[in-house]
Amino acid sequence: MRHSEREFVSGETIYVWGKPYDLQVEYSGQADNFLLDGEKAILTVHKESTAKQRENYVNEVLRKYLKDEINRLLPVWEQKTGLQCKRWVVKYMKTRWGTYSGTTGTVSFNLQLARKPVECLEYIVVHELGHIMHHNHGKGFIAYNGYISA
Ligand SMILES: [Zn+2]
Repeated sequence: MRHSEREFVSGETIYVWGKPYDLQVEYSGQADNFLLDGEKAILTVHKESTAKQRENYVNEVLRKYLKDEINRLLPVWEQKTGLQCKRWVVKYMKTRWGTYSGTTGTVSFNLQLARKPVECLEYIVVHELGHIMHHNHGKGFIAYNGYISA
C-alpha cells in the first residue's frame, strides 16, 4: 500500500521538480523550515502541527520555487515568441495545469507544477503564451506550436 502524501510524516515521498525525496520531519519550536538535501527533504515544524498545517507550509515553499522558475522561464519564452502576458498568478487547480484568460490577460499556473519535472512548466509557459494569439486549439495554435518547437 502506498502512503498518502497528506500525512506529512517521516518516510513519505515528496516530489519536487519531478524528483522524489524522502521526507524527514524534524520538530522545533522555531519557525517552520523546508530544505532539500541530497535525497532528503527536511521539513522542520512544530511538533503539534496538523497535517494540514504542514501541507500549507510545504505548498508555500513550492509556490516560491515555482514563482522563481516562472520568473526565469517566462521572459525567455516571451522573447522567443514575441508574445507577452499582462500578468500571471500561481494557484491551486484541480484539473488544469495552466489557463489563459483573454479578458484579463492573465496566465494562471497550477501550483502542482512544482512537483513535476521543470519541462512540464516550460511546456505550459509556451502553451499558455500561445493562447494570447490563438484562443482555441485550432489550426493557428497548431501552427504556433510547430513554429515554436522547430
Ligand atoms: Zn490550451
